[in-house]
Amino acid sequence: MTENLNVLQSTQFVVEKALTLLGYPQVMIELLKEPLRMMTVRIPIRMDDDSVRIFTGYRAQHNDAVGPTKGGVRFHPDVNEDEVKALSIWMSLKCGIVDLPFGGGKGGIICDPRTMSFRELERLSRGYVRAISQIVGPTKDIPAPDVMTNSQIMAWMMDEYSRIREFDAPNFITGKPVVLGGSQGRETATAKGVAIMINLALLKRKLPLLDTRVIIQGFGNAGSYLAKFMHDAGARVVGISDFYGALYDEKGLDINSLLDRRDSFGTVTKLFTNTITNKELLERPCDILVPAAIENQITSDNAERIQASIIVEAANGPTTLAATKILTERDVLIVPDVLANAGGVVVSYFEWVQNNQGYYWTEAEVHAKLQVVMEKSFENVYTIHKEKNIDMRLAAYTVGVQKMAEASKFRGWV
Ligand code: NAD
Repeated sequence: MTENLNVLQSTQFVVEKALTLLGYPQVMIELLKEPLRMMTVRIPIRMDDDSVRIFTGYRAQHNDAVGPTKGGVRFHPDVNEDEVKALSIWMSLKCGIVDLPFGGGKGGIICDPRTMSFRELERLSRGYVRAISQIVGPTKDIPAPDVMTNSQIMAWMMDEYSRIREFDAPNFITGKPVVLGGSQGRETATAKGVAIMINLALLKRKLPLLDTRVIIQGFGNAGSYLAKFMHDAGARVVGISDFYGALYDEKGLDINSLLDRRDSFGTVTKLFTNTITNKELLERPCDILVPAAIENQITSDNAERIQASIIVEAANGPTTLAATKILTERDVLIVPDVLANAGGVVVSYFEWVQNNQGYYWTEAEVHAKLQVVMEKSFENVYTIHKEKNIDMRLAAYTVGVQKMAEASKFRGWV
């Protein structure tokens, strides 16, 4: 029954289950199942050939009871209102799980950056900030990178916001280049966090990391750095993929060479002829499977054939609820997205803190602090999963919703 729900509906389904389990009334479910604010903007952009194109963008602010909202901006042709809303709810859950003083936000623009020039992208990034400037800001809503946006785009957005407000505002956005107030370790933070989760999951299952077979779907920011970390730690990365296809080798892939040859959009398989499909890759033999690309990749169609005993979700929403049920019954340990990929928002928070205090940390300091937060969060969720005998996703959601539900109550909203 849950298989036909879209990403927003399935997120709402688990949020409702978590709040009910915690004993909150129906009105709390009503409050938290949709963002408090959802802004749709139309952005006219002068293209290089002098024509004008109108782009549609969104900014969702799920709940700001705990603090300002925080979350990335996605540039992708498939961006839509429900996806942005779901992503903003996931951000709220993540901030709750890793205990940050933020609520969740998310933004997106319907566009394909792969077909746009550097200057067209700059005009679009600046136009988006002008369009949403009234509802964002360092103590209101703090954007960050997401799929197909990067530190250059964050730099343009920060510059545009600073111009509008007429003061320098590095704390308006995170994921900036280091010279503009970006944090050491932000670029690799999501992958670092996922790597920490893999180590903890292996410990729970009493499995070694050395020579463990890993498949990673997606070779962009999250997937490619993770492949490097796993390879360097002695695991055997047997499969990787991108939008165009996948590579699999039981003996292990040459990760360093693939990293050298991938382009800035995380594409590398086009250079090979011995590729398989993304669908085939997910079902190949491995111990750990890391979806690090897009939503709805593991469904009731393929869950029975997944061979991994541990799935760590670097991507947002890669596994449907029906697949979660099948895999949990098969005793596959799933580390859910809202926990597994929270390293990115943790270091984004560190970046915002450093910008506010004007004092910057070393990469080693950032990693040490990230390690502490991720370990504590994993243990917290895992304990609830065991104690309440509920799956890891529901356990993570119960941790994630609790702080914002309590904050909403104390503010007198509910
Ligand atoms: P990215 O744009 O850097 O890379 C995406 C990768 O997925 C690329 O290799 C691309 O070719 C591949 N891909 C795209 N469509 C695909 C498809 N249909 N099938 C297979 N592969 C496909 O993105 P990213 O930042 O690495 O994000 C990947 C996932 O991780 C997303 O779900 C994102 O929301 C999530 N995430 C990222 C961060 C972060 O800090 N980057 C933080 C939290 C969550």
